[in-house]
Amino acid sequence: MSQFASVELVPGDPILGLTDAYNADTRPGKVNLGVGIYYDEQGRIPLLKCVEQVEKALADAAKPRGYLPIDGLAAYDLETQKLLFGADSELLSAGRVATSQTIGGSGALRVGADFLKKTLPKARIAISNPSWENHRVVFGNAGFEVSDYRYYDPASHGLDFDGMLEDLGKLEAGTVVLLHACCHNPTGVDLTAGQWQQVVELVKQRQLLPFIDIAYQGFDKGTDADATAIRLFGASGIPAFVVASSYSKSFSLYGERVGALSIVAADRDEAKRVQSNIKRTIRANWSSPSTHGAALVAGVLGSTELRAMWESELGEMRDRIHRLRAGLVSKLATLGAPEFAFIQQQAGMFSYSGLSKEQVDRLRDQYAIYAVGTGRICVAALSSSSLDRVAEAVYAVSR
Ligand code: PMP
Repeated sequence: MSQFASVELVPGDPILGLTDAYNADTRPGKVNLGVGIYYDEQGRIPLLKCVEQVEKALADAAKPRGYLPIDGLAAYDLETQKLLFGADSELLSAGRVATSQTIGGSGALRVGADFLKKTLPKARIAISNPSWENHRVVFGNAGFEVSDYRYYDPASHGLDFDGMLEDLGKLEAGTVVLLHACCHNPTGVDLTAGQWQQVVELVKQRQLLPFIDIAYQGFDKGTDADATAIRLFGASGIPAFVVASSYSKSFSLYGERVGALSIVAADRDEAKRVQSNIKRTIRANWSSPSTHGAALVAGVLGSTELRAMWESELGEMRDRIHRLRAGLVSKLATLGAPEFAFIQQQAGMFSYSGLSKEQVDRLRDQYAIYAVGTGRICVAALSSSSLDRVAEAVYAVSR
């Protein structure tokens, strides 16, 4: 008998399972809104032109593939800091930010979680209700007790801001608070700048430790506006906070696994000490990150011309999402379902549509339209050709 004989089968990721079912579906006109990926009008994952240009230059230069340093490509880390904190950030000039290239935003979360668990073994973490499912899994696996704070209000399909403040206000000093900077996954419900300022004040007063996850920078209002939470915490005078970032969506580089962990410390010396520990954690996880994706991102962000091209291509993705939201809402209103207007207030790729599990099942069974059981739809997986069909089906199952 093998040593693994008692290993039990664990359920697969429900969202990835959805894609398997969609792929096996032979009905014409099928639509998969269950994904976490931005698709273009033709239903393809875009290859950004700015990325293609750097890729060609890299192929022409045909460099050997040595190991990167444990904390990644220096130019990548530097450009990432500027993008997150602002090029003229005082945190950066003071040397207070320690940034490491990671294996996607997921790697940043995991390394950040491991570092925090080791440094602050008694700390707990609070995540939004709901949150990206992996938040609970990653922090739980790192040994954290995970609780949640109120966030989504099903009645208004918006933010339960009073509930959020009340729950954050009850957390013990030193608790880590996971915050989505923008384009909240799964709900699409974000805070306004004014609400962020209130959260910053509360976090400061309660001495909580913010852990900001930014996986969709540039997908709602633009690269600077979508970093409002980071900028406000940066200007708040709090001594420390953590940022996990990802370029998977903003550069359409999903499989290249390009992310970063940035830790803001009290001063330059503390940042150095923190970085030495982060490097040790990375060493014990994947030793050093991969070269190609980071070279692509650094090549784009380090060139004025390509950076402008990226901003414009990112702007096109953002505008298209806004158009799709508006189109869906308007079509539903024309059909006689004006109650879906909230979809236009939500931000980023995702929307909590308010559809029940049973309605989602009907969408799949009767219309070959796939969505997550929670009602989460990926707006960026719609297209002008599928929009009417989806709106009609949503209308039908909601009646
Ligand atoms: N955080 C959130 C909120 C996400 O939605 C995602 C991706 N789905 C990630 C982090 C992880 O990003 P990556 O794919 O770069 O690991």
